[in-house]
Amino acid sequence: MPHASSPSLVVLTGAGISAESGVPTFRGPDGLWCGARVEDVATAQAVRFNRPYVNQFFNKLRVEADKVQPNPAHVALADLEARWPGPFLLVTQNIDPLHQKAGSRNVIAMHGSLYRVACDACGAVMDWQTDLFVETPCPACGKTGGLRPDITLFGEMPKEMDRISEALLSCAIFIAIGTSGVVYPAAGFVDLALHAGARTIEVNLAETERSLAFAERLTGPAGQVVPKLAAQLLATVR
Ligand code: NAD
Repeated sequence: MPHASSPSLVVLTGAGISAESGVPTFRGPDGLWCGARVEDVATAQAVRFNRPYVNQFFNKLRVEADKVQPNPAHVALADLEARWPGPFLLVTQNIDPLHQKAGSRNVIAMHGSLYRVACDACGAVMDWQTDLFVETPCPACGKTGGLRPDITLFGEMPKEMDRISEALLSCAIFIAIGTSGVVYPAAGFVDLALHAGARTIEVNLAETERSLAFAERLTGPAGQVVPKLAAQLLATVR
């Protein structure tokens, strides 16, 4: 059992936490993701059959992500982690670099990152900062045509699910911020946390598909709500 003064905390973030930094969310009113049809760029089939277009799309997002800065919600989570007395895990569905830029340390990017590539030919996963093309040779094995963005697309398995499940099944507090509760398995994390008897808190601008599963709901922009929530949580463990 976790010690009462050092409870374990798991935070899940989605596209909504980066909205105030100027990164568009996934489910805009037009149903497009940054101007592209989701099935053309964000599925396992797209990366298999239309890799030049997929590369081009994520190259564009990487250039945009280079320019954005963390907002007060990202900063508050990094500060909370630094001061939290118990285990702290931040799981993000986001592929942008804003949690890392804010200084968060124990981060699982369950849907991968714009700043990593994977090679289908040799299995290597590497940090990556520049544009990716089909002709780009893999720095590890030298083959061309195998490199792809290391991003979990629809039809693919998210990363580090064992570590995430283990943390959820032993957490005392679970917070979901800026996520629509539509994309599984992340949408089911609240169920694992409830199974562990955790306090569950949702932060969102609006009601989500999973709002009813949470014991507490805080409605408002993450940049305003998260710093206050972090201060309240820290006050409970002093
Ligand atoms: P989503 O776009 O489906 O939902 C965003 C949620 O955030 C909505 O519920 C919305 O009400 C809420 N929201 C919007 N602005 C907010 C704010 N200022 N404060 C609080 N809440 C706010 O996002 P999702 O659930 O994360 O699923 C989308 C998928 O697409 C993810 O799996 C992710 O991999 C990918 N994606 C990532 C990014 C990114 O890296 N920043 C951006 C778009 C999509």
